[in-house]
Amino acid sequence: MTTETSAASPAFVELGLAEPILRAIHDAGYTTPTPIQAQAIPQVLAGGDLLAAAQTGTGKTAGFTLPILHHLSTRAAQAVKPGRPRCLILVPTRELAAQVEESVKTYGKYLSLTSMVMFGGVNINPQFKALKSRVDILVATPGRLLDHLGQKTVDLSGVEILVLDEADRMLDMGFIRDIKKVLAVLPRQRQNLLFSATFSDEIRTLANGLLHNPKSVEVARRNTTVEVVEQSMHRVPQAHKRDLLAHLIKHHDWQQVLVFTRTKHGANKLAEKLNKDNISAAAIHGNKSQSARTKALASFKDGSVRVLVATDIAARGIDIDQLPQVVNFELPNVPEDYVHRIGRTGRAGATGSALSLVDDEEVGYLRDIEKLIKRSIVRVEIEPGFVPPAKADLMSDERPPRPPQGRGGQRQGQNSRQPQPGGRNAPGRAPQGKPAAGGAKPAANRGAAANPSAQPRKPRPQAALFSSKPGSRGH
Ligand code: AMP
Repeated sequence: MTTETSAASPAFVELGLAEPILRAIHDAGYTTPTPIQAQAIPQVLAGGDLLAAAQTGTGKTAGFTLPILHHLSTRAAQAVKPGRPRCLILVPTRELAAQVEESVKTYGKYLSLTSMVMFGGVNINPQFKALKSRVDILVATPGRLLDHLGQKTVDLSGVEILVLDEADRMLDMGFIRDIKKVLAVLPRQRQNLLFSATFSDEIRTLANGLLHNPKSVEVARRNTTVEVVEQSMHRVPQAHKRDLLAHLIKHHDWQQVLVFTRTKHGANKLAEKLNKDNISAAAIHGNKSQSARTKALASFKDGSVRVLVATDIAARGIDIDQLPQVVNFELPNVPEDYVHRIGRTGRAGATGSALSLVDDEEVGYLRDIEKLIKRSIVRVEIEPGFVPPAKADLMSDERPPRPPQGRGGQRQGQNSRQPQPGGRNAPGRAPQGKPAAGGAKPAANRGAAANPSAQPRKPRPQAALFSSKPGSRGH
């Protein structure tokens, strides 16, 4: 045992990971495996398939990356060729792809394995070039991977280990057909790892077809993060929100705030307003180029930008240790997204704070969220120091953005959605008809009031985790 290994945490040494990996873990400052790591690493090292319930913030990335690095560095590689990876990690978003590959590099820095990240929205040529070299671990989003498969620039016939990370998000984003096309070209004999935060019927079907006698690990249920995040809300008309947020940031001297809006347009508007008020802010969403998104995230991480305004999808996988403050500028219309959002703070055991700004029209969403997290969110009165904007300065688009048609639309085309007739604003869901302070139009003429046949959204099935029987390989 080298000096470096003896410096490694005994808890990680016990897991049986190779010495160069232990050294990298030591460098990262980890002393104890997180619960998902303690459960998943031995299972992956044992070589079988795995079905894991874990969400971002639990340490799940290291949970699969560490044992994968172990396998690839201790097993002899067969038929090594350029562009022929031994491990494929499929993820839903570019941000997550970049972060997972960064983790691979961090934990594999003392190994001679190579990795590559592949996603769309960027020039494909550098990817062609990278695939002309050896690539042991490929982290990819499904769409761009299919482009490469079509052009035969990548060869998946040597994949020994497949990971589907955030599988629920991939399905929500409509990637199921792309995933199936990828599965069809993989060798039959391989290890499969499926990570998902939720277990819908669709995920079970996917798992049944993909996994062979999987071991199940389950650590952070969706609402576990909820326990460590201090949650509160202000009731405030939509038209006052931008001014209130600027006031709160200055008043509390928040230095690093992640703000969620429901639309890309709303994200841009808010970032503009904050910058006008001398609060440095950047917006990050699907209409921004990858380089703009990466730049905004880097500026936020290094502190040169104080506020990052993001839509749900763009924020997926944002990994910032110790992010102290999250603000829901609008509540999400899918209650599970609230848990994802507040999971950006209170990570890896740190405490954090999540503040929601709730307009009258969002009360229905609030109830759904409180039902999901099984607690009520503390209502805090706005401090007397806040002076609402004069009527002339009010937000012109003062109504909360309308929900999309179905879940898929909300995920992908956040700006191009069609309003859902009535939907969540159906009578009885939220107080209606009360004129919003500051000149906002009464809510009564909107949404469901004009659509008496509107039904509240069907609740998403909350099936018990892992009750499905393991299936056989079906690809
Ligand atoms: P993840 O859930 O993979 O996105 O990881 C969340 C955060 O936890 C990342 O910033 C990791 O660097 C951090 N992390 C992962 N494993 C550990 C560990 N064993 N101890 C402390 N922090 C960790």
